[in-house]
Amino acid sequence: MTISSSLDRRGLMLVLSSPSGAGKSSIARNLLSSDPKLTLSVSMTTRERRPSEIDGTHYHFTDKEAFIMNRDAGQLLEWAEVHGNYYGTPFAPVQEAMEQGRDMLFDVDWQGALQMFDAARADIVSIFILPPSMAELRSRLIRRAEDSEEVIEKRLQNSITEMRHWNEYDYVVINEDLQQAVAEVKAILTAERLRRDRRVGIHSFVDELLGVS
Ligand code: GDP
Ligand code: ADP
Ligand code: 5GP
Repeated sequence: MTISSSLDRRGLMLVLSSPSGAGKSSIARNLLSSDPKLTLSVSMTTRERRPSEIDGTHYHFTDKEAFIMNRDAGQLLEWAEVHGNYYGTPFAPVQEAMEQGRDMLFDVDWQGALQMFDAARADIVSIFILPPSMAELRSRLIRRAEDSEEVIEKRLQNSITEMRHWNEYDYVVINEDLQQAVAEVKAILTAERLRRDRRVGIHSFVDELLGVS
């Protein structure tokens, strides 16, 4: 028996939500680049691709017809209409990651998060990201410079509805300083990975430690 096999554990699903511009993608990028055990769930969306985005990496960009076909064929774990576009989580990569004991990161809105809580509560760790103020949220959306003025206004209006759901999540992180917010999310992930009920392989390790055959 090796330590690594004895410490096998169930994969967890890390769900991040926030109003647009609060910094989910920035936090996710930081986590993914420093944590090889974490895989991003790449959503399917009918939204237009932003100049900085790569199809297949940030999203699977698709039209409404193809989205609805996938949805109706049961290929999405959850889906929602957000800011006038459809977004959904492809099921197959999640199943594969969970079977292999890998952790997966989801950037989904509150409607999607609630559907996921219903489907897999025990495997989910959820974090709501808040901006430090509404003024800062607005200026981040403007500074990001990837959406039209009209889209930014719509996202700011929708941010109130999104933020009303903060108390349905396990953790709340205020993204004032990005590095601090990333450190806080990492601390949550580290602690959740060590939870006894996720460490299926710990039983045989303890048995061997105690000399139980
Ligand atoms: P952002 O908020 O600036 O990151 O803008 P996006 O256009 O990337 O995301 C729009 C909204 O759709 C956000 O609230 C996301 O959390 C949500 N979203 C993204 N992917 C999914 C998904 O697969 N399912 C659901 N339900 N929502 C998603
Ligand atoms: P979301 O994915 O939630 O829409 P982004 O990660 O795209 O948000 O962040 C929105 C903008 O704010 C980006 O231009 C990003 O560089 C910037 N940003 C993110 N976090 C911070 C922070 N703590 N301080 C200042 N700017 C930030
Ligand atoms: P954006 O258009 O700025 O990339 O994302 C807008 C919102 O859609 C964000 O709040 C993001 O979390 C959410 N979102 C992205 N992908 C999904 C998804 O697959 N499902 C759900 N429910 N929301 C998503």
